Amino acid sequence: MSYTVSELTSILGVNEKTVSRWMESGLKTVAGCSKPYLIYGSDLQAFLKSKDEKRKAPLKQNEFFCFGCKRPRRAKRGSKKVVGDKEKGLCAVCSVKMSRTIKPSQKYYQKPLFQM
Ligand SMILES: [Zn+2]
Repeated sequence: MSYTVSELTSILGVNEKTVSRWMESGLKTVAGCSKPYLIYGSDLQAFLKSKDEKRKAPLKQNEFFCFGCKRPRRAKRGSKKVVGDKEKGLCAVCSVKMSRTIKPSQKYYQKPLFQM
């Protein structure tokens, strides 16, 4: 099953620019056809799934997402501090300021337990 770009925009509720950005970032079109492009439903599904997984890329315990490097980075030694419910630090690679929200589960572990 294949779709044209305009079919996709109405099915997915996105605009044409979004679809062409997807094509630029790896969404396969049916080989050999030029405008109007055709896209296989299965290719679209695979593309959206991998896009989703990339976005979700979970940060490890000691990592921040660095907007300088555009990837998860560790904080410079000694630069990490907790401000409210945020943890802040400087990127160990490019020194850009980074911050992340402390997840409730982590906060829980930072609190001393009064009831045993
Ligand atoms: Zn960085």
